Amino acid sequence: MKDFNYFQPTDIRFGRGRIREIGQVVSQWGQRCLLVTVPTIPIFTELFQNVKDIMEESGVAVAHFEGVIPNPTVEVVSAGARLAQEHGADVLLGLGGGSSMDTAKAIAVEAAHAGTSWDYLFFRDSQPTDKTLPVVTATTTSGTGSQVTQVAVVTNPEEHCKSALYHSNLFPKVSIVDPELMLTVPEHITASTGFDVFAHAFESFITSNGSPLTDLTALEAIRLVAKNLPPAVKTGSDLEARTAMAWADTLAGLSIANAGVTLPHGIGMAVGGSYPHVKHGEALAVVYPAILQYTYKAVPEKFARVGSLFDPSLKELSDEAAAARTCGIIESFLQEIGLSLCFEDLNVPKEELRALAQASLILPDYKSHPRVADLDDVYELLTKSCRS
Ligand code: NAD
Repeated sequence: MKDFNYFQPTDIRFGRGRIREIGQVVSQWGQRCLLVTVPTIPIFTELFQNVKDIMEESGVAVAHFEGVIPNPTVEVVSAGARLAQEHGADVLLGLGGGSSMDTAKAIAVEAAHAGTSWDYLFFRDSQPTDKTLPVVTATTTSGTGSQVTQVAVVTNPEEHCKSALYHSNLFPKVSIVDPELMLTVPEHITASTGFDVFAHAFESFITSNGSPLTDLTALEAIRLVAKNLPPAVKTGSDLEARTAMAWADTLAGLSIANAGVTLPHGIGMAVGGSYPHVKHGEALAVVYPAILQYTYKAVPEKFARVGSLFDPSLKELSDEAAAARTCGIIESFLQEIGLSLCFEDLNVPKEELRALAQASLILPDYKSHPRVADLDDVYELLTKSCRS
């Protein structure tokens, strides 16, 4: 068996209704909290007020930064960091999807260090120190796994670039994963965030950086997504399916925190950086069919294993035959959840695909893909992801 390391410091509080513990949890880490969320649209009014009330009842003074946007930018993080400093925040609560949790993590760095969050990206000399403020999260989507990762994804619109802070000081101290918070996620966002869960699990399983432990969590996450994402998309109020997806999301997050992701995420990050209107899960879904075809012959046994979680009859085939069938199975799955997309659907112009291919190779994720792509390969994959 191969040697491996596995590190996971986040205290996970999983279960229905556990958001009610937020006051007790946050007060263990600080007395002055910056609550980090998207703007208070009607669907969130009650949740945000309840969370503020519960924290205040536990003696925590709360300031509310409600400036998070999907694909959060460096400007958004800076505005939040200023409010954190004005409030004298000693703890942050990221309440929302990946965008809110990542913004909280990036604010935790910027509020306690010189410069902006962009100065602390994973490849820079300066890295987040122990001064980074403690972060608590409560996720409201089943998607990014950010509640258990050391990653904060930030976009710099001036550089058309989406990149990441990556440091063990960014692991949330505590994460509440309460499936009841996900009951209001609309159908399309359930599909795109849920496909992100699949992508995390799949890529952390096929990567060369995996381990027996991340294989376990990734395969269980894929099994749960195959069974529960379609009902969660179809019936948002299905608490069983929402609970299973929340668990799958957490397992897939544990997988990527230790094994990382591969080529699709490199491309997905480039799409999000250049076209911020595209949701993260859509950016992945659009390129997955072409990438599966490009990859399956490099690791047929792994594709066969994944395919058998969707269709157990694949176990009767050779790995090569099952792997080829797996590509079609995942394409059909995308259709079933309404995410069978091409770049035209996402308003990404075909003439910009060469530049997009270049941007897709900036992050190192592609290097651990089972078949390592060069610029021409990526350009071809992108053109194959267009309708014409
Ligand atoms: P998101 O946080 O951007 O949320 C998407 C939309 O869903 C928003 O409009 C939000 O208001 C809405 N929403 C969220 N919860 C809701 C609820 N319960 N009910 C109704 N609406 C709700 O989406 P996301 O996919 O969770 O996060 C995407 C971001 O996370 C991207 O920037 C992506 O790059 C990043 N990401 C981070 C990691 C990590 O490890 N840190 C991993 C993968 C992706």
